[in-house]
Amino acid sequence: MAVKGLRNIGIMAHIDAGKTTTSERILFFTGKTHRIGEVDNGNATLDWMEQEQNRGITITSAATTCFWKDYQINLIDTPGHVDFTAEVERSLRVLDGAIGVFCAVGGVEPQSETVWHQADRYHVPRIAYVNKNDRIGADFYEVIKEIREKLGANPLPVQLPIGSESAFEGVIDLLTMEELHWNSGDQGQTYEKLPLREDLVLQAQEWREKLIDALSAFSDEMTELYLNGEEVPLELIKKTLRSATLAQKIVPVFCGASLRNIGVQPLLDGVIDYLPAPQDVPPMIGHHLKKEEDVQVIHDPKANLLALLFKVQNDPQGGILNYVRVYSGVLESGAQVANIGKKKKERINRLLKMHANRSEQTESLQAGDIGVVIGLKFSGTGDTLGQENYPVLLESMHFPEPVISVAIEPKSVADQEKLNEALEVLQLEDPTFRVRDNKETGQLLISGMGELHLDVLVTRLIKDFKVAARVGNPQVSYRETITKTITHTEIYDKTIANKEQKAIITLEVKPGERESGIIFKSRVVKAKVPEEYQEAVQRGVLSAMGAGPLLGYPLIDLEVTLMGAEVDELTATIMAFEAAGALGVDKAVTLAGPVQLEPIMKVDVSSPHDFVGEVISHLTMKGGLILSLDSLAAREIIHSQVPLSKMFGFTTGLRSMTQGRGTFSMEFSHFAPLN
Ligand code: GDP
Repeated sequence: MAVKGLRNIGIMAHIDAGKTTTSERILFFTGKTHRIGEVDNGNATLDWMEQEQNRGITITSAATTCFWKDYQINLIDTPGHVDFTAEVERSLRVLDGAIGVFCAVGGVEPQSETVWHQADRYHVPRIAYVNKNDRIGADFYEVIKEIREKLGANPLPVQLPIGSESAFEGVIDLLTMEELHWNSGDQGQTYEKLPLREDLVLQAQEWREKLIDALSAFSDEMTELYLNGEEVPLELIKKTLRSATLAQKIVPVFCGASLRNIGVQPLLDGVIDYLPAPQDVPPMIGHHLKKEEDVQVIHDPKANLLALLFKVQNDPQGGILNYVRVYSGVLESGAQVANIGKKKKERINRLLKMHANRSEQTESLQAGDIGVVIGLKFSGTGDTLGQENYPVLLESMHFPEPVISVAIEPKSVADQEKLNEALEVLQLEDPTFRVRDNKETGQLLISGMGELHLDVLVTRLIKDFKVAARVGNPQVSYRETITKTITHTEIYDKTIANKEQKAIITLEVKPGERESGIIFKSRVVKAKVPEEYQEAVQRGVLSAMGAGPLLGYPLIDLEVTLMGAEVDELTATIMAFEAAGALGVDKAVTLAGPVQLEPIMKVDVSSPHDFVGEVISHLTMKGGLILSLDSLAAREIIHSQVPLSKMFGFTTGLRSMTQGRGTFSMEFSHFAPLN
């Protein structure tokens, strides 16, 4: 089949808005699934992990390929819960456009705000879909208002619901001024277009006027026709909608009820009509390692290969799946490529395209496309694949530091081994999941982004990997950093097996910016100190960063510079330099005014007006900082920052304070020194 074009899109939604149901319908109507998997029965095709089905939430971003009207659509799954920030960020990196799904009853919930603003940061053009118009309490127009007020977006309905709640029967297309009615006999696979009935005409005209009026700001041609009272051709409206959407000036809004198979096909048309093809988005920037300059990554199959690995999945049947997006050139099955950052050669054993319920082998993936590579040995999430003779590194993904941990203890010796293997796989899949030993207690601690995140991981350990283990209570995962700049010279000189091993190095440790992580620099020249010794020092330094001098929490936000080194040809060894790096930096940070850092969370509480006073004083009592208040018709949103250590049990507290009517979202904000 000749494909006319490509769309890489994500579906963003608050939990329960209907993302899974809508994705399912998309896959059904695009003909790639043969029956509709109902989320409620727990057999949705996208939710391939058993656990997701039990929880009814989608937590892995699988990329699924489908076809609509000769266009290829790669659907990149994007989770709606902030505990899975890493998944959201990584999907935003590789998609070109997105559908924001909203519930016609719930509207814009705090967590949709978070995800929407993440997409703002990545400049992702979006269309919106207001789902569940058949539910009691559905109010399409209120959701439009909330999208404008809470998300600061410019929503433009291109459709209106016909009726609402149980009387919801179809959709008005404001572009063609027709009614769309779905046939329930064939599960909504077909729908009819009818002329507008009389009692809908006025309302439709009013909203069409609004649409044309708003679009005129983006097209002189349209303004002229509009002012002269002439008919604006359909193609011109669509063209203007497309360019204004791509420029992120507007958000076209569709409506429907996915569960009742209403509204999905026009939404797919909207994906083709208004969301960008890979060549429509600004080129990605890469860094040329040899020339030490930034270069534009050209969307061209004939250019040098550049591809980003954005997701590792351990598939029980298929082994390790590496999801890849090709930005430039062609990735070919059987080819040898280079892992640019790690300076390793890799062979592409097989390439797959993932469909809803099967995978298909393919010979190549062209610039713009997304698929799966099998057979990589050294590569992981965030790595760039390219050619050795064109060493350009694509910007890796930034993942937040995990802030909450639990102790985990295998029940038997046999389980210990299984646990270690399982933890290795889980860490490979999820860069926000960490494992470390607590040196003081000897306990194994696993850390993640939130209680739900850890819960999901622990359940996977127990159910998928069949590890019998005891799990402790969640605890805060602190960090340590330094406050002073210190220079220290470390002399390592030991005789091991009758051979003297010696390294002398001078290190400077310096406080780094917040969220800079650990930066290692070297001021010594290769001519004086061979590269392998410098790399050994770096390895030693980094290995020592796992445990700080105060309580053994990981160190963050500091800069270590190798200022000088003495190499004695007879006694210098790689091992000696690595040991000197680790021991030297340990001593240096102890002298550099170490402090403990605690995670501060961004907490947004939604509460009915009556309870706001009490919620605010509760947050303040917990050492929280109230940032701002948003007043809405029925409730108030309180934006605050609270130390994570004070947030345990907040769910229960909030429930009793608000008679069960308050909700909140929480995500990591920053680390601050512990008072
Ligand atoms: P997700 O969490 O965003 O993936 O949402 P789901 O697709 O799992 O849907 C959440 C719940 O809402 C499920 O019980 C669905 O059956 C239900 N649901 C989804 N779409 C609709 C709809 O259009 N109308 C109604 N009434 N319920 C819906």
